[in-house]
Amino acid sequence: MSRPSIVVIGAGLAGSLVCNELVEDADVTLLEIGERDRIHYPPIDFDRKRLGHVNTFCFGGGGTTNLWHNGLIPIDRRDVVREDFREVLSDAQPFMDDAASRLYFRGRYSTAYTKAVADMTAVAEGIGLARDGIDCLVYPKKHRPLTVDDRVKAVYSVDKIRFTVADGAIKTVHYTVGSTSHSIDATAVVVAAGSMGTPKVLREIIATSGHRHNTPGHGFIDHPLGFVGKVRVKKKVADAISRLSKLDCGDYEVQAVVRLKSDCGRYTCGAYFRPAVTIHNSLAIYKYKSLLGATTGLTRLRNAASWKFFHPDIIAEVVSHVAGIHFPSRTYNILFVAEQRRGSSRVYYDGDNLRVDWAISDEELEIYRALLRKLSAMLAGVADQVNIETMITDDWLWSGAHHSGVTPLGDATGDLIDRNLRLKASENVYVCDGSVIQEHSYANTGLTIAQLALRLATEIRGRYVASAVRAPRAMPTKTAGDRV
Ligand SMILES: Cc1cc2nc3c(=O)[nH]c(=O)nc-3n(C[C@H](O)[C@H](O)[C@H](O)COP(=O)(O)OP(=O)(O)OC[C@H]3O[C@@H](n4cnc5c(N)ncnc54)[C@H](O)[C@@H]3O)c2cc1C
Repeated sequence: MSRPSIVVIGAGLAGSLVCNELVEDADVTLLEIGERDRIHYPPIDFDRKRLGHVNTFCFGGGGTTNLWHNGLIPIDRRDVVREDFREVLSDAQPFMDDAASRLYFRGRYSTAYTKAVADMTAVAEGIGLARDGIDCLVYPKKHRPLTVDDRVKAVYSVDKIRFTVADGAIKTVHYTVGSTSHSIDATAVVVAAGSMGTPKVLREIIATSGHRHNTPGHGFIDHPLGFVGKVRVKKKVADAISRLSKLDCGDYEVQAVVRLKSDCGRYTCGAYFRPAVTIHNSLAIYKYKSLLGATTGLTRLRNAASWKFFHPDIIAEVVSHVAGIHFPSRTYNILFVAEQRRGSSRVYYDGDNLRVDWAISDEELEIYRALLRKLSAMLAGVADQVNIETMITDDWLWSGAHHSGVTPLGDATGDLIDRNLRLKASENVYVCDGSVIQEHSYANTGLTIAQLALRLATEIRGRYVASAVRAPRAMPTKTAGDRV
């Protein structure tokens, strides 16, 4: 009885989890463009808006989990407009606790999360800040980049991944390492190269499969985020806001998100309270704060070497972050996290050069401004002073590093993958990473990506391992939604 041969492309968050989950039942080969223990940042050209002042993704074993903060939050399905994607999230829901534990959450995540939301909602309701609801981001205090199981045949520094297709399925995957060429027969292929890598791999697969499709890479969304102002809260609510800002729960910390729903109902944004000292707005300081926050280790130390480091607001953030101590201040920064809808932005390759064409539309900016006015009005009741920039331009916002949307999912003609994350152009290719997330309100994407990875592993096991070990199963036939 042969074990299926599963080829996974990309050793990031999703790819690592899929490998580890399947290695018990299948021969798993992992093909990663980067090195095993070193990350690098591929050069990137921007057509319009830059993503950020820091690197928002990297290539290398562990992928972006080398850079991330491991904050865990689900995407609230009530905020998701598209029915097909809502259904995908529902199917992934049972994997939440397992996913969180693979991401270093100790204990039962769903219990802790539900309790955190209930507690924080009670706090916010008491001071009139829960009009659109409260959500919570949960940070396990200890985490490290993901690694793959030793039983996985992991190949790093791969180049020139190509495919042989027969009968509508990939039969063989070819790749080079240095100047040596290799081939491996595949029962199924999982593309998990992240939103910056997957469009290129999919184009190759679709073209080799004899189809034409322009949509890989289209519909790029991110979370435009930024510090948009300050609030000095009244003495009587100081304890409540301090709890909402950060709550120590032993193995993990919780930060509350004040949900902000747009009048049209299609956008759900969020606001966090972050410690500050002064009430003044300075975009230069906000950008510097984000730069420090998004980097780690030596890079962070190098970035710290600036006069801006001695700004009181920066010192407050550092003390809070590094020492976990709340600065004795009633002044807070407002970190605004905005939702984007799939539109004209895209990720594409010009030859081998990665290009990102990202923009925040005028319509989105207007919605964000309206939500900031709403937030200012809510805060007026609890604040001695509110200094929020409600007329933000796109200069105030940069990438939240939650790159998503570039693999269209659904039943429409232009959609590339179905609800099981299977590529419609091929019988045995699946896509799983941030690129398959179609909507993400204000929610960090890592937990959802991990849930989808575990769900996909279950799907693959059911289809290929069951067929290898038990009775042969017919390949699903094409349906009306399978057009490419
Ligand atoms: C500073 C920072 C902080 C963050 N904090 C959080 C947080 O607190 N919570 C949260 O949920 N999210 C956070 N994120 C986002 C989160 O890290 C990403 O959403 C997530 O890791 C993406 O996972 P992925 O599997 O889609 O892609 P990745 O983890 O990026 O993996 C893609 C992999 O594919 C490889 N690859 C690319 N192209 C190819 C190719 N052609 N062939 C072979 N391999 C290829 C890459 O080298 C990489 O290993 C943060 C991101 C950053 C940058």
